[in-house]
Amino acid sequence: MSGSSHFDVLVSGAGMVGATLGLALALDGLQVALAESRSQEQCHAKDPHERCSLINTGASQFLASLGIPVSGLGTPVERMRVWDAEHAGSIQLDAADADVQHLGYIIENRQLEQALHQKLQEMGVPLFYSTRLEHQHAGPHSRVLMDSRGAFYRTTLLAIAEGRQSRLRRTLLQASVFGEDYRQEAITATISTERPHGGTAYQRFLPSGPLALLPFTDGVDGEPRTSMVWSAQKPLAKKLMALENPAFLEHLQQAFGPQLGRLSQTGVRSSHPLSAMHVNRYVDNRVVLLGDSAHGVHPLAGLGVNLGFRDAAALRQIISDARSTHQDWGNLNILETYQRQRRPDNLITVFACGALNHLFSNRSRTLAGLRDLGMLGTAMTPRLRRFFIQQAIVL
Ligand SMILES: Cc1cc2nc3c(=O)[nH]c(=O)nc-3n(C[C@H](O)[C@H](O)[C@H](O)COP(=O)(O)OP(=O)(O)OC[C@H]3O[C@@H](n4cnc5c(N)ncnc54)[C@H](O)[C@@H]3O)c2cc1C
Repeated sequence: MSGSSHFDVLVSGAGMVGATLGLALALDGLQVALAESRSQEQCHAKDPHERCSLINTGASQFLASLGIPVSGLGTPVERMRVWDAEHAGSIQLDAADADVQHLGYIIENRQLEQALHQKLQEMGVPLFYSTRLEHQHAGPHSRVLMDSRGAFYRTTLLAIAEGRQSRLRRTLLQASVFGEDYRQEAITATISTERPHGGTAYQRFLPSGPLALLPFTDGVDGEPRTSMVWSAQKPLAKKLMALENPAFLEHLQQAFGPQLGRLSQTGVRSSHPLSAMHVNRYVDNRVVLLGDSAHGVHPLAGLGVNLGFRDAAALRQIISDARSTHQDWGNLNILETYQRQRRPDNLITVFACGALNHLFSNRSRTLAGLRDLGMLGTAMTPRLRRFFIQQAIVL
């Protein structure tokens, strides 16, 4: 086809995962381009909701190796305190228990995306904003796509990182998608606190769902702040979203308890329906899925985007290995190696997060007994604590 640009890898979706993959591959010397449906203004604007993610130590190191200084962007997490609102059980996981400095960083999603976009721009990697791609046809050595302005793109490999509602996934992969509606919504907001968080990520399990207050940057007047993720069954979430700020803070204070003193202000609240999702097939010839386009987990363990970074790191390694032996990295056989590596980890995490949510988000006495036993065992056994921390921090 005449007039089309040719790329080694075309990434559709320049969110945290797509932009990370694009950057990693560009650093390896591949001709990469990214298409992002949001406008440049939307991507560059400050996020009024200040949505955050816990980026674990492994992922932070991976990002740092790409020139993205996570430690300068985020707030370090030194320990996690998890407790059960209905029973006595609680656990504290300290970075020191696993001989690491931090368990990860709480980073604003938008800031991380902006840092990635800036780095891509500095490297001269084309990033087409306000662009959605439509698949045109597949040849033996490439895929051809077209955007809404009629421009054509030819690529050796199409990487789809469009998030959960990916359109290209639906068009290109006749894959079945497992989904489970948790009938919960996560309410997020920045919350100012009377006492400083001291680098502690707090999570309280309530029968209606987990409530987390995560360490966040201080406000403009130096007031301590946390990033809240409050997962609650839908009717309660709707009620909480409808409250005026003072009434909302009262409910929050009651649900969280006195650990951080008075909870004094709330930023703009937003709510997100929660579900589990997993696609049974990540690859086809010259097509690969990664990040939330392939899997979605409950946010209670802060793992969603970390899985996406693991996908990006694995795909990068597989492409690099194929190139070093002069193999065609867009070939289905090569891409199946990626699927074999990533599916088990993603699938286990999807189900483990769902099971944890089920174990904690209910009033069953039997499950409460199990929770107490699990927490007690973890609290008393340094080896078990170290195991959990290592699970939480690896890439
Ligand atoms: C309340 C909540 C809290 C969370 N907390 C954490 C946490 O602490 N730690 C953690 O690891 N994870 C967390 N997650 C999960 C995390 O937000 C997601 O896993 C992560 O955003 C997935 O990144 P992604 O780049 O794969 O997809 P997305 O963030 O969805 O990005 C997809 C990108 O593709 C673009 N796009 C969409 N369609 C198209 C198209 N047709 N063409 C071009 N571009 C397109 C979008 O504009 C977007 O930029 C949380 C999720 C929720 C809901």
